[in-house]
Amino acid sequence: MHAILTPFVLSILTAGCAVAAPAPAVGRLQTGEPVAVRVERDADRWELEFVLNGDAPVWMFQRSALLRIGRNPWRPAWWSVQTPGVILDRQGRYDVLRMADGSPVPRRIRIRMTPRAGDLEADYDPALVFSDGAVALYSEQFDVSPLASLEQARALPLDLNGIDLPGGPAEVTWRDRAGPVLFKGQRLDQVTAINADTYVLFGDARTREGRGVTTVIDPGLPTWLGEQLADFTPLVMDYYTARLGPQAGPTPTLMVSWTGPTESLSSMGGSVLPGLISMNFEGEGVLDPEPAALARARWFIGHESAHFWLGSNGLKYEFARDAWITEGGADLMAVRAISAIDPTYDAATELQREVDDCVSLAAGRPVASAGERGDNRAYYACGAVWSLALEGARKERSGGDFFDVIVDLQRRNADDGVLTREEWLSALTRESRDPSLRIGIERMLDEGSADPASEIARLFDRTGVAYRMDAGRIVLAD
Ligand SMILES: [Zn+2]
Repeated sequence: MHAILTPFVLSILTAGCAVAAPAPAVGRLQTGEPVAVRVERDADRWELEFVLNGDAPVWMFQRSALLRIGRNPWRPAWWSVQTPGVILDRQGRYDVLRMADGSPVPRRIRIRMTPRAGDLEADYDPALVFSDGAVALYSEQFDVSPLASLEQARALPLDLNGIDLPGGPAEVTWRDRAGPVLFKGQRLDQVTAINADTYVLFGDARTREGRGVTTVIDPGLPTWLGEQLADFTPLVMDYYTARLGPQAGPTPTLMVSWTGPTESLSSMGGSVLPGLISMNFEGEGVLDPEPAALARARWFIGHESAHFWLGSNGLKYEFARDAWITEGGADLMAVRAISAIDPTYDAATELQREVDDCVSLAAGRPVASAGERGDNRAYYACGAVWSLALEGARKERSGGDFFDVIVDLQRRNADDGVLTREEWLSALTRESRDPSLRIGIERMLDEGSADPASEIARLFDRTGVAYRMDAGRIVLAD
C-alpha cells in the first residue's frame, strides 16, 4: 500500500506539539477538600466518578482545548454522562457540566468514557492509544471549577493564566482491574495524586530502560521509527545537555503511541511534561524510512526534546500568546542540534519553511492572537524567524549561537524560570544594540504587518542573517 507513496503524501505530513499548554493558575485559591475523581478501567469499560466539593449550577473543565482537526470539543463526543439530568456540553471556550434546569449539579457524577487518539490545539492530548490496547491518560483533564452561571462560563477567555477562579486541581485515583498502572516510572496497583501533570499508562505497551531515558513504545510502531527514537533521542539530549546543562527533573520517560497506517496520512504529534515526552505517530507516510519521513522524525525528536530546556521544563513562557518564544525557540534549537549531529542535514530547507510560513501567516494578522484563530503554526514559524534574528545579533556582537543566548537567559531567569515577552525583546535589544528591532516584532505580534517580508528583511539586515530577495520572497542564504 505504501508503495504508492508520493511526494504529495509527504507534503501533507503534519507535526504538532502541545507545549503551548495553558497552565491555569487556579489551584492556589483552593480551600478544603479537593474535587475527587476516580478513573477505573475494566477491560474495554472506562468509568469516571466525580465527587464535587461544593454546590454550583455549572462546573467548567479548565482544560478544554479543541481537537486540532475539525476544531470540535472532544469531551461531549467521548464522554457519556450516566447520572440523570446532568448535561455535558460546550459553553464559550469551555466544556461544562450543568443541569438542564439550572439547579446545582449533583455532588456525585458518573461518566462512561471512551478514550481515543486525538491531537488537541495547544494542549496535551487527553489519551495516547497504543495498538496493543494500552492507553495513557493525561492527568489534568479532570480538573474542574465551579461557576455561578453559564454566562460566566461563556465569558471566560482562552488563556486562564492570571484569572482568579475557584476550585483547583482534582485529586485523581487511578486503577486498572487488569493490573498495575505505570505512574511516573513506577508500576503501582492503585495511585491517588493531585497535580501529577503526567500521563498514566493503563496496560503494557513495551517498556524499556535506556541510557538517560525510559521508553514506552507501541509494539505496533514501524521498527525503523522505534530504532530512530531509541538511538537519536539520547544523541539530541546529550547535545542539549552539553550546551545548556542538565535538564531539570528525574530521568525522563519517552512514551510513543501508534494510531496505525491511515491512508494518505503522515502525522507526528507530541508534547513534553515534567519528566515525560509523549509522541504519537500515524499514517502510511511513516511506514518506511524514506528520507523525508526520517528527516521529519529527527526534527520532531529535536523539537520535543528542546522543551526540556525551553518550554514545559526549564524556561517557560508567561502567557499562552507568548508561545512563539518556546515553540520558535525549540524549532531553532532542533535545527542547530541536528546539524551538529548530522552534517548532511538540510537545515536551510527547514529554516526557509519557517520564513515562508511566517510571511504568509503574519500578513495582516497579529501573531500574538494566532492561537485564538487556530493558527498555532504562526508561533513556530515567526518564533523561529525572530529567534534566528536574535541568534544573528548575538553572533555579530560577540560570537556564539542561539544556545549561548539561551544560557544567558537561563542565568537571568534563574529565580522564576519564566521568560517573558519583555525579557525576550530586551535580550534582542541587548544583543543588537538596536532598540528599533523590537518595535518591528511588536507590530507583527500585536497588529499584524501589511508586508511581513519587508519587516523580516529589515530585521535580518540589522542582525546579519544572510538572505537575498527573489521577486519579493526572502530566500535564506546557505
Ligand atoms: Zn513544541
